[in-house]
Amino acid sequence: MSLPLKLRKYASLIAKNGVNVQNGQNVVIRASVDNAEFVHILVEECYLAKAKKVQVDWIDQHLTKLHYTYQSEETLCEVKDYYVEEQKDIYENLSAMISITSPIPGIMSGVDTRKIALRNKAYSQALEPYHKYTAANLTQWCVAAASNPVWAKKVFPQLDADKANEKLWDAILTSCHVDDDNDPNKAWEIHNQEFASRIDILNHCNFDKLHFVSELGTDLYVGLVKNHIWAGGYELTQKSNIIFNPNMPTEEIFTMPDRLSVNGKVVASKPLDYGGNLIENFWFEFKDGKVVDYGAEKNQDSLKELIEFDKGSAYLGEVALVPYHSPISEMNLLFYNTLFDENASCHLALGACYPTNVKNGENMSKEELLEAGGNDSMEHVDFMFGTKNMHVKGIDKDGKEKDVFVNGDFVI
Ligand code: ZN
Ligand code: ZN
Repeated sequence: MSLPLKLRKYASLIAKNGVNVQNGQNVVIRASVDNAEFVHILVEECYLAKAKKVQVDWIDQHLTKLHYTYQSEETLCEVKDYYVEEQKDIYENLSAMISITSPIPGIMSGVDTRKIALRNKAYSQALEPYHKYTAANLTQWCVAAASNPVWAKKVFPQLDADKANEKLWDAILTSCHVDDDNDPNKAWEIHNQEFASRIDILNHCNFDKLHFVSELGTDLYVGLVKNHIWAGGYELTQKSNIIFNPNMPTEEIFTMPDRLSVNGKVVASKPLDYGGNLIENFWFEFKDGKVVDYGAEKNQDSLKELIEFDKGSAYLGEVALVPYHSPISEMNLLFYNTLFDENASCHLALGACYPTNVKNGENMSKEELLEAGGNDSMEHVDFMFGTKNMHVKGIDKDGKEKDVFVNGDFVI
């Protein structure tokens, strides 16, 4: 099947299983001008799925860089009323939100990171009342990816830009279960059923802690908070129970570690890109939740920066299970993009937890969340430690053990 035909299949998948466009619903697509061709197909697929109006908010990453370079902080941080009004209209009408990510690695190099942080803060403050529409699933939303030659060259440095771009598209499509001769919508339905039943089992097991052992030297106990909730895969909108997939691809099932009860050693299985520096062959030693020792063969300074970033960045905020035999993992690539890399391997995150991973967490204050065992930080950095021979045991309150992973894959 030719690439354009596969892209149409992919676009249809995003419209139907990604946001699940409802009859008469408005759709907003945020995408880069570099992906115009694909976005045109996506817009048509949304209309074919019976969208009333599809709006595209174009992002030009090169223009963004110029704005950051030449505008004053004051101008960058000025959020116009008409912009806020428009967003209010979009969200209050419960538009379905699609975001097509297509990073251009290194494009912001040389830009004052302070300016970026200030502008982001100004916009998130102005749009704060509408944050809940996606964060609390009031409407459907989906993040998916599109290739571009610069990103592709970073993933496949040995190929020329055109070939690399084709290869990256292939990798994106394969990881989203878009194959030559399958119905990807069907594949996602099966995928989602698997998620639902595993999440159900894990929630019923209600483990006190998990024990991870790998051939690389990982031997780690991760305590889970009381009333933790395993999540992953599809979500439902709050009022109308519309099923949608917030991330395409997705392979992870994750929950909330107890910030103060993580003990042992974890050895990473993939490099970590932190602030543009690649940290390689690294490990952490935890005691009562905190990183007390660490090492890396390359860029240990960046690891130090991460751990010392703030009070919470030396503690865990997420533990995620990803089978070794998943389409993304089997490609054995580094995408330099979380949407893919965190779905390729069991991972942990240093930094903030997800409030939704504990019962009633959305309604807890920061203090209550900390009290419940959650972690607070300005960072949330995932690192991979899953391997082919990873063994995971769940241990309940009475010390009874149950296999969760044997040789890198789920056995429950
Ligand atoms: Zn994760
Ligand atoms: Zn994460």
